[in-house]
Amino acid sequence: MSGMFDETLRELRRLRGGVKVGVPISSDEKGYIDKECPNPECLYSFKVMAADWKGLFRPEAVFCPRCRHEAPSSSWFTTEQIGHVQNAGVRHVESRLGAALRSDARSFNARQPCGGLIRMSMSCPGLTPTPFLLPAAAREALEQEIQCEACHAHFAVLGCAFFCPCCGHNSVDRTFDDALHRIVTNLDALDVVRTAMNALGRRDEAENACNSLVESSLADCVGAFQVVCDGLYARLPGVAQPPRNVFQRLSDGAELWRKELGVSYADFLSPDEFGRLSIYFQRRHLLAHTAGLVDAEYLRKSGDMTYRHGQRIVVSPEDVRDATHIVGKLVTGLRARMPASKSDSST
Ligand SMILES: [Zn+2]
Ligand SMILES: [Zn+2]
Repeated sequence: MSGMFDETLRELRRLRGGVKVGVPISSDEKGYIDKECPNPECLYSFKVMAADWKGLFRPEAVFCPRCRHEAPSSSWFTTEQIGHVQNAGVRHVESRLGAALRSDARSFNARQPCGGLIRMSMSCPGLTPTPFLLPAAAREALEQEIQCEACHAHFAVLGCAFFCPCCGHNSVDRTFDDALHRIVTNLDALDVVRTAMNALGRRDEAENACNSLVESSLADCVGAFQVVCDGLYARLPGVAQPPRNVFQRLSDGAELWRKELGVSYADFLSPDEFGRLSIYFQRRHLLAHTAGLVDAEYLRKSGDMTYRHGQRIVVSPEDVRDATHIVGKLVTGLRARMPASKSDSST
């Protein structure tokens, strides 16, 4: 028996099996496409060279340059790209159903619920260039293009990257030194950013952009310290995996080093430097967890007398330069106390 909606039902069955919708994602003028970390706590945006994404990246594992979250290559679309793909998906389903319905010679509301049937496997790279917050001159000053020394993939980031998105490689020592250098370079570029945005008549935005760059530089500094400590610590013979992000908590991290190396942060820093670093780390914690609003825990842990409960902290470029300097001293000290690794000692 043939029914009136045969064609439509056939089409619906095909759609339920999964629809592949091709949405063209174009690369930027340098050949990069945008990606976004799917880890909800991270959502870091970065760029990868389109040619490498096709030729070098593996479908089963891509890594976040920032948090090293690992996920299949299909999980790295930016929020904006997903919006585009979803729109295209809806249009695609509507058009296929529409055609089927027409061939059933029946007028019908083609906007009937087809949403639940859309399970797209997004096979194709598709991107509309993300409208960029920063003007070209500012972006030029802040964007860092990197080629992985291990797998040779090209990627680009604003701020600091710690891991290769293609192979997950981290060069413990080089990455840290690069990161500190990058933070200082970015702080030096603040005037370029401000000038470029002011020239476009975007004064308020310019101040916001500069503030958020300074704050993300502080996060870069703490992140770089975390990653280098993780890497150094992992080189110690026979140590267990340290708790996640332990080195972002100065006293907890210090306790691990005391146990393993018999060192104290006071061996490398003056009491004043250690006090300032505690405040910077606590401020970074506030930015990440309370949007920068001072809470009781901050007041207790940082000993910072300049703020009251509920105030929004301010991070200055000078603070970040100071933090970078102190963190550099600390890591130099830790490195000097590391036992010689097997590859270092020739026997
Ligand atoms: Zn991430
Ligand atoms: Zn790599």
